[in-house]
Order: sequence, then structure tokens, then C-alpha cells
Amino acid sequence: MRQKIPCLYIVIPCYNEQEVLPITCKMFREKLETLEAAGKISPDSRVLFVNDGSKDRTWEIISQLAKEDPHFLGISQSRNRGHQNAVLAGLMEAKDRCDITISIDCDGQDDINAMDKMVDAYLDGCEVVYGVRSKRDTDTFFKRFTAEGFYHLMNWMGAECVFNHADYRLISSRVLQEFANFKEVNIFLRGMVPLVGFKSTSVYYERAERIAGESHYPLKKMLALAFDGITSLSVKPIRLITGFGALVSFISFLGVIWAVITSLMGHTVSGWASTVSILCFMSGVQLLCLGVIGEYIGKIYMETKARPRYIISERTWEEQQS
Ligand code: UDP
Ligand code: MG
Repeated sequence: MRQKIPCLYIVIPCYNEQEVLPITCKMFREKLETLEAAGKISPDSRVLFVNDGSKDRTWEIISQLAKEDPHFLGISQSRNRGHQNAVLAGLMEAKDRCDITISIDCDGQDDINAMDKMVDAYLDGCEVVYGVRSKRDTDTFFKRFTAEGFYHLMNWMGAECVFNHADYRLISSRVLQEFANFKEVNIFLRGMVPLVGFKSTSVYYERAERIAGESHYPLKKMLALAFDGITSLSVKPIRLITGFGALVSFISFLGVIWAVITSLMGHTVSGWASTVSILCFMSGVQLLCLGVIGEYIGKIYMETKARPRYIISERTWEEQQS
């Protein structure tokens, strides 16, 4: 059991969320209040919005909130960099200002009441607490099926992550200090946080529907995220290619023996169709394998450039000082 009352920062990525933000900001504010009243977090706890280069009024709303209430803070990325980078920017910004962070989406889909359990788990000694969706009843069958397939595919491909856990989690600043040493540019937080280690646990909650606005994660983006996650965390696809190559070589070897024997026995091997089919199939497979290997080379290329993972162009507290 910890003695000190921790300071909490709720880190919220926002991209084109002008419909939902005015509603959910109140929920987050109330949550801070109830947690504070229960003596679980200190009064200097804050809600930190990360504007991910929104094209609508999101940043104006955040700036306004910060002006009206000191419990709201905001930073703005210089352009849209995607959800993962936005969360990372918020976490890195928060890590020196608080004891614990909770990252959560701003659309009200993740049950904010799970935060109580998260903070309790932290007070009990855990450093990382994963929010896990117990049910997906409100998602459409298609979303549920594809999303669960996503986790199976990830684990099968060697990118281990907590099943049905998205980016709703508590991380202590102690873990974030260590996490800051993970310098990679291709980030997939769900797979990376477990690599840092430390004592962790999960809390379960039911996922609700988006309060307003639309999802930014259609199937195409989800597949891109899965592919990115896999190639960032695991070399299993390359191993599979090697295994497949070995299998094909073995079968070809048998084919060669068969061809030699039949020709020695005087049978001419007629079969233009089969030769062409094999040729086409194999060139297809080769191109695919080259593509996967190319993907890794591309990642190495991006990593060697070591470009900044996020660029913060504005902060609400600088505004207040001026
Ligand atoms: N988001 C972001 N940058 C993006 C896309 C999304 O910061 O480029 C934020 C978005 O504002 C939301 C969270 O990431 O807070 C999750 O997005 P969304 O709700 O659209 O995804 P879903 O819950 O449908 O998977
Ligand atoms: Mg959502």
C-alpha cells in the first residue's frame, strides 16, 4: 500500500472531436473531482488534452477549457501524426509533472468509472494497469469480429499484447521514465508497454458506443495498425517466409527427382499448363515475400533517420503566461 496521494494526469488524444469534446470534458472533470474527494488523487491532478492536428474547432475548444478551468491543460501537435504519437506526446509531457497517467480516448467509449479501480490497483502497488474490454455488445458484429481477429493475429505473429486492451491504461511516471528510453520511431504502445515490465494488472470494463462523431478507425486503418504493430514488434513474418521458402525448396527437390526419374524412364513430361501455373504462383509468392522484407527495410530506414516522434507547437499554459 502506498502512502503518498498521487497526482494524476488524464491524457486524452483528440482528432477532429468538436462534437464530443464539450460533452466528455465534463465527465473527465467530474471524475477528477470524485477521485480527489475520495482522497485517492491529489488536488493538482489534471486533464491533459493532446490535439492531434485537428482540422476543426477542437483546439479552440481545448484552449477555451484551459482558460476557464485550471484543471484542463492542452498541448497541440504541429500536424496530424496519428493516435499513437498523440498519446505518446501526452505521456511524455505528463511524465515529469505527475505520479500517474491514465490515457483514454475522448469519445466516451471507454468507461471512465474503471479509473477508480485503476487508481486502487496503483495504490496497491501496481505500476501499470491495463483497461480491458469485457464485452463488446455495443459494437457491430463486423467491428467486434475484426477487432478480435486483430488481437489473435497480433499474438500469432509474435507481437504480444493484452487481449482486448486498447490504449486505456494507467502508467506510473516511474515506468514512463524507463519507457522514454525506448527511442524507436515506429511506435505501437500496446505492444511496447508490456516490454517495459514492472508489476501490472488488468481491470475490466464494458465498452460503450461513441457519444458523438465518427470512428477514425475503419477496417483499413485497423489493418494498417495491425501490420505496423506486427512489423514493429516482431520478426515472425520473416521467419515464416524462411520456413515457407524451405518447404517450397523441399517440394521442388522432390519434383526434380520425379522429373529426372520420369525422363529416364522415357516418359516425356508434357505439361505447359502446370509449368506456367507454378511459375506464376511462385513469382507471386516471391513478390509478396519481397514486400514483407521491404517493409522491414523501410522501418530500418525510418529508424535510422530518428526523426522526432512528435512536435508540440502550442501549450495552453504558455498561452496563459503571455
Ligand atoms: N485520434 C487521434 N489521431 C488520429 C485518430 C484518432 O488522436 O489520427 C484519437 C481520437 O480523437 C480518439 C482516439 O484517438 O480520442 C480513438 O479514435 P476513435 O474513437 O476514432 O477510434 P475507435 O475507438 O473507433 O477505435
Ligand atoms: Mg472510439
